[in-house]
Amino acid sequence: MGERIIIIGAGVAGLSAGIHAARCGFEVELFEHHSEPGGVCTSWRRGDYTIDGCIHWLMGGRDGDPYRALYESVGALDDVELRTIDVFTEVFDELTGDSLTFSRDLDGLLAQVDRIAPYDLPVFRELVDLARRSEGTAPPPVRDAPEVQGLWSTMVDLWHARDRLRLFIGSSETMGDVAERVRHPTLRFALKGLFVPEMPAAFMAMLLGELERGNLSTVVGGSRRFSAGMARRLAAVGGSIRYGADVDRIIVENDRAVGVHLTDGSTHRADHVISTAPGPTTIFRMLGGAYTDAKIRERFATWPMFGAVSLVTFGARRRWPDVARALQLRLAEPFTIGPDSTDVLAIRHMAEDSTLAPADGCVIQALVGGDFDFWHDVHHAPGRYGELKEQLAAEVCARLERHFPGLAAAEELVDVATPYTFWRFARSYRGAFEGWLPTMATIRTRVGKTLPGLGRFHMAGQWVEPGGGIPPSVTSGRHVVQMVCEEHGVPFVDLMGK
Ligand SMILES: Cc1cc2nc3c(=O)[nH]c(=O)nc-3n(C[C@H](O)[C@H](O)[C@H](O)COP(=O)(O)OP(=O)(O)OC[C@H]3O[C@@H](n4cnc5c(N)ncnc54)[C@H](O)[C@@H]3O)c2cc1C
Repeated sequence: MGERIIIIGAGVAGLSAGIHAARCGFEVELFEHHSEPGGVCTSWRRGDYTIDGCIHWLMGGRDGDPYRALYESVGALDDVELRTIDVFTEVFDELTGDSLTFSRDLDGLLAQVDRIAPYDLPVFRELVDLARRSEGTAPPPVRDAPEVQGLWSTMVDLWHARDRLRLFIGSSETMGDVAERVRHPTLRFALKGLFVPEMPAAFMAMLLGELERGNLSTVVGGSRRFSAGMARRLAAVGGSIRYGADVDRIIVENDRAVGVHLTDGSTHRADHVISTAPGPTTIFRMLGGAYTDAKIRERFATWPMFGAVSLVTFGARRRWPDVARALQLRLAEPFTIGPDSTDVLAIRHMAEDSTLAPADGCVIQALVGGDFDFWHDVHHAPGRYGELKEQLAAEVCARLERHFPGLAAAEELVDVATPYTFWRFARSYRGAFEGWLPTMATIRTRVGKTLPGLGRFHMAGQWVEPGGGIPPSVTSGRHVVQMVCEEHGVPFVDLMGK
């Protein structure tokens, strides 16, 4: 057995790093706070229903896509069926009664815009043109970590990335900017809320292009199948996971990471430590802020982060065959819980997946913005916490009745995960949905996977990949092991083959 690596976190980044490191001959142990692998890439069973807590759309599932090869190489697709997404979302504006469906039929999208507000057609045409021009643009490097590439492979990567770079250089607007050029209120709302308004329009266009090309999918049976496959692969290649292991400190000697200290008081030594815990937790709590520089401090002071969310899920003994698989609702009647006023609901209607509910039922889920401090503080009063969760579910259910008539009567299950739940189970930083928001500045910056002055230490996961998401998180687990191999003089075993 080779040198020992401790990996903090068994989300998809930690699992990916663990699998790669074990195959390269390292002795690998993952230290995971929760009792299960997967981090936020998870789903859970309640009675007859499965609640999918994660993947709305997985990018890169199509045969021949480099991400698919990566997912297969780490066992994520073992026994997993991916379902291609036909409808991304139907935006419904309760204030105007107008709706707009974003589906694989982008010409159909233009036809809808032409009907609703022909004067806004040029803006949507630009977006669709951009989406189509993104075809054939290579994704960010999957196979080789930019940090370990020689000059030649960097040149090759840049050559492959030229069209993507051209796309981004040619379009300097955010989705918020594009939306401002649209006059119809529903269409403006649609563009702003498609993801986040800060997102570069080129990024969103690429996503729409991938949708049109059938390269966005969901995981049949729930996201847990994806991460469970990776956990099985980790075990098969000799890596192990220590559950219920909450790391509070990374042990450093002579400016080298040499192990971890847990909240139970135990210490565990290693030749190398990789953290996939949130960036702020790793850098400022586990390492006490001792290894930063001006650039890192500036990033934490100024870069926008994703906010916290609640997931409100209903299992209903009824089906609504005419309702789209995803809805983005602008509410005519906003509601308030604590400091949060909610006027938009993102809905997943998971009726296509018959494994999630009884044959005559379905699962409906709302993603609602939340305030971490409020939900964290209130959990100390369990009765009040329970009451507020019920109140949130009742408010959401009342708004959904308009779109799913009879939901309240057919409802058999209600499950509410608050921002505190995300922290409790996955140690998500302040209950955050992901890490850094994808903005013009953040997606053009390569976040370091090392820290200045600290040896034998790396970071992987959504906090070193602005915009977050499954594809970059799994990729970063691979890349970080390429960097570790280089540092230890160990050959990297390429699981993606040639
Ligand atoms: C509701 C929701 C929907 C999403 N939808 C999509 C989607 O449709 N498509 C997509 O691509 N992405 C989606 N994402 C994002 C995607 O799931 C994440 O970007 C990705 O799973 C992050 O993986 P990770 O391993 O970097 O982090 P995490 O999954 O957060 O894993 C980190 C792990 O570290 C552990 N940990 C943290 N601190 C400690 C500690 N001190 N000690 C021990 N262990 C610790 C945690 O328990 C956790 O298991 C979604 C996320 C959410 C929350």
